[in-house]
Amino acid sequence: MRYKVVIFDLFGTLVPYLCKQEYENMLEEMTASLSISRNAFQKLWDDTFAERARGVFPTIESNILHICEVLRIKPDRAQIEAATRRRIEFIRRALAPREDAVEIIRRLKSSGRKIGLISDCSCEVPLLWKGTPLSELINEAVFSCEVLLTKPDPQIYLLACNRLSVSPEDCLYVGDGGSDELGGAAEVGMSPVLIRVPGEDTGDGYRMNAGEWEGQTISALSEVLPLIFDY
Ligand SMILES: [Mg+2]
Repeated sequence: MRYKVVIFDLFGTLVPYLCKQEYENMLEEMTASLSISRNAFQKLWDDTFAERARGVFPTIESNILHICEVLRIKPDRAQIEAATRRRIEFIRRALAPREDAVEIIRRLKSSGRKIGLISDCSCEVPLLWKGTPLSELINEAVFSCEVLLTKPDPQIYLLACNRLSVSPEDCLYVGDGGSDELGGAAEVGMSPVLIRVPGEDTGDGYRMNAGEWEGQTISALSEVLPLIFDY
C-alpha cells in the first residue's frame, strides 16, 4: 500500500488560512474589551505565539494576563473574560474545514488508511476540536501546545507516528509550509507535499513562510488522491 497514513497540517491545510481582516478585528475587539493600547497588545500577542504553541500558557486567560502584566495594566475579571470569549470565537470560526476536506479524508479512510494531524497551535484548538467535523475523522491529532513540542522538531513527527503505529517512511505529510514543517517531515523520513491554494488570502496573522520549496506541490486537497491511488 502506498502510504499507510496521511498526516495533515491544520491551518492553511485542512482549514483555510486565518483571514487577516478577521484577525485584525479580533485584536481590535480584544483590546477594546481590555481598555488597552491596540499596538502595544498586538506586538506582545504576536511575540508570544511561539510560547502559546509550546504550551507555556495553559489557558488563554493566562496569556492575556501575562501581556497585561508586562504593560502594567490591571483589567478586571469581566474584561478578561470578554477578551477571552472574543479570541475563542475567532478560533472557532477559523476551524471551519475547507469545503472538500471531510470528503477527501473519508475517501482516504475508506481505503483503510489512517489519518493524522500535527498542528502548531495554542490551547483554544484542542479545547474546540471535539466540536469540529474533523475530529471524528482524524485518528490521531497532535497539538503542539499539549505535547510541548513544535514543528519542525523531529520528536513531534515521531510522536505522531508512534500514536499511529506507523513508520515515517509510510507517511505522506501535507502542509502549507509554516514552521518549516515540510523540511521537518522530510528529515524524519516522511514524504512531504506543499499545499498552496491559488487566490487564497495569505495575510495570516502568524507565520506564512513556505520558504524555498522545490518538492511536490499541490493546489487543492483533492490533489492528494492521485498521490495515493492509481487512477
Ligand atoms: Mg499551516
